[in-house]
Amino acid sequence: MQVNGIFYNVFDDHFHLRKDGLFLDAVRSFKKAGGTAFNLVNLPDYTISHAGYYEKLYEITVSLSEAVRKELNVPVVTTLGPYPLDFFFFKNAGMDPVEEMKKGVDLAIGEFIEGNCQCIGEIGTPHFDVDPDARAKIYEVLEYCFSRCADAGSPVMLHTEDLDSTSLRRICTSAGSAGLDPGRVIKHHATSEVFRNDCCIIPSVPASRSAVRDACSTGKPFMLESDYVDDRQHPQRVLPPDSVPKRSLMISQEFPNYEEIFAQAFVELPERLYGLEYKTL
Ligand SMILES: [Zn+2]
Repeated sequence: MQVNGIFYNVFDDHFHLRKDGLFLDAVRSFKKAGGTAFNLVNLPDYTISHAGYYEKLYEITVSLSEAVRKELNVPVVTTLGPYPLDFFFFKNAGMDPVEEMKKGVDLAIGEFIEGNCQCIGEIGTPHFDVDPDARAKIYEVLEYCFSRCADAGSPVMLHTEDLDSTSLRRICTSAGSAGLDPGRVIKHHATSEVFRNDCCIIPSVPASRSAVRDACSTGKPFMLESDYVDDRQHPQRVLPPDSVPKRSLMISQEFPNYEEIFAQAFVELPERLYGLEYKTL
C-alpha cells in the first residue's frame, strides 16, 4: 500500500478461501486495495466424508495457498487445524469426537513440521452455548493442542466465544502449563478485553472501523483481520476481502504513529509468529 508515496506491507491475519467462492478474484481485490500478504485459515467443509476428513481438508487448503502464491505472487501463511464445531460433526456420525480432533491436531503438527503450514487453528471453543460436557471435551482437545504446539514450536490461532477476564486467564494458564508461551497464542476476533489482559495473548482484531480505532488507541501490539469467508451465497455476512488495506488507509489518516502500527501488525508480528517473509520488491 502507498501512503504519501511510501510503500507499506499490509497483512490480513485471518482469511478464508474456497475454490468455488470468489477465490483468486477475492485475492485480486485484496491486492488491488494494497494488501500484500495474508494468513489463509482452513475453512470447515462438512461435505467432506468423516473418514479422512482432516487429510482432505488440509490438502485442499495447502493447494489453495499454493495457487495464490503461484498465480498472484502473494506470500501466504497457512493455518491448519480442527475447528471447534468439528466436535458435533464427528459426534453426530457416532464417532469419538475427541479422538478424531486430536488426530486432526497431530496431522496439522505433521504439516507444520513439513513446512506446509505455519500456525495451528482455528481451534478453541464454540462461540455459542453448548452443554458443559461437550465444552469440557472440546477444551480437552485445546489443551492437547497447546502441548503439541509447545513441542513443535508452533503458534496457535484461537477461535472462541468472546472471552472475559476469567476465561482469558484460564486459557493463559492452560497454555503455560502445557509449556506454550502465551505470546504465541493469537486470539482471532479479539475484543477489547484481550487488550486489558496481561498474559501476552496476541489480539487479531476485526477490520471494522470501531474495532480498529479502539485497538490503535491502546498502543499495544495487535494484528488485523477481515475473517473473509468467500461465500458467494452470503457475501453480506462478512467483511469484504479488501477490509484490512482499507482500514490501514484509515489508520494512516487518523493515527500519526501509523508507521509504527503498520510495522508491528504487518511485519514484526507475522515474521515473529509465522516466519513470514516479504520478497524484496
Ligand atoms: Zn475463521
